[in-house]
Amino acid sequence: MAAPKPKQLIRPLVHSLHAYVPGEQPKIRGLIKLNTNENPYPPSPKVLAATKAAVDGRLRLYPNPTAQALRERLARLHGCGPENIIIGNGSDELLALAVRTFTEPATPASATTGRASGSTVQYFHPSYSLYPVLAEIHGATTHAVPLRTDFTLPSVPELKRGKQWDFQAALSLVTTPNAPSGRGFATAELDTLCAAMRGVVVLDEAYVDFAAENALALALKHPHVLISRTFSKAYSLCFQRVGYFVGHPELIAALDKVRDSYNVNGLGQVAALATLGDLPYYRRNFRRIIATRERLRRELTGLGFEVLPSQTNFLLTRPPGPPAKEWLQRLRDRKILVRWFSAPEVNAYLRITIGSDAEADALLKAVSAILHRRR
Ligand SMILES: *Cc1c(COP(=O)(O)O)cnc(C)c1O
Repeated sequence: MAAPKPKQLIRPLVHSLHAYVPGEQPKIRGLIKLNTNENPYPPSPKVLAATKAAVDGRLRLYPNPTAQALRERLARLHGCGPENIIIGNGSDELLALAVRTFTEPATPASATTGRASGSTVQYFHPSYSLYPVLAEIHGATTHAVPLRTDFTLPSVPELKRGKQWDFQAALSLVTTPNAPSGRGFATAELDTLCAAMRGVVVLDEAYVDFAAENALALALKHPHVLISRTFSKAYSLCFQRVGYFVGHPELIAALDKVRDSYNVNGLGQVAALATLGDLPYYRRNFRRIIATRERLRRELTGLGFEVLPSQTNFLLTRPPGPPAKEWLQRLRDRKILVRWFSAPEVNAYLRITIGSDAEADALLKAVSAILHRRR
């Protein structure tokens, strides 16, 4: 008998998937990397010391399966119990778990009868481009609803009038502050939206430490609201992959059933715990990044860029002159990497991560040179 063809062994659904495209991580010497919203400042010396000290014979052992110490520490920080918290291998893992825990894969019948709220993963557009990818992997129905043209949040009456937003959707994912726009959403607005929803709402606060306010209280107030946080961006720990959800114990327990038993690696748990022991170090960095962000915003505006207000560690900006995609290349030629998205709502913009002050200066210098060459 002939051997089976590998292609025939793969589920049709998997064949049809489009994988998430992460920002590039090129290894080019001297490259200024402003494309994936990493923190320009290293983890605190205490975190590095704690992580190094944990690299010994213990590596042969499984880590704590529920990240108990980390959950207890986070519970104290947020004024809730450890049963309100689940840790993930990055918040990306938890977002995937939420799709698997709260939505049904669409059946052929539900697909033809139109709206099938039980299988709907809903999100605003533009927002985090991983959401549709996670929904498609699960066979759930993706439902993108546009933000206002200035990327602010539509009000509940507007959403009702628009008839697009599904108040029954099994899972709604809201990036707040928003990526890639950088805009912050007021907690009061989010509260009103959450109160009108019948399914689970995840408020993805990956960038919240750079914002004026956060919505954590909503996860402790509404039984169907989960807050997603990550150590990646604000706490300089992308490499370690640690994120968490806060919410009602029953939702947390359901997610806990679906996750892998040892989903969070031991060194990640050690690093995250040490991070919580040195919060003043990180708060100093937030202030520095915010100061650099506001300076960069002023200076780019002075150079003719349209720059959206930001509550994050990046700026969404519409460059003058050539198309944004060309700016991407011209900056790259000068060893500065920023991010450009092809989606029509944002393809006139560049998303620029806030780096150190020296990196901001290098960016401004390159921008001036590019503008000067044009004249
Ligand atoms: C970066 C990012 C995440 C993922 O963070 P990890 O914890 O590193 O997986 C989630 N949501 C948004 C909006 C992000 O930008």
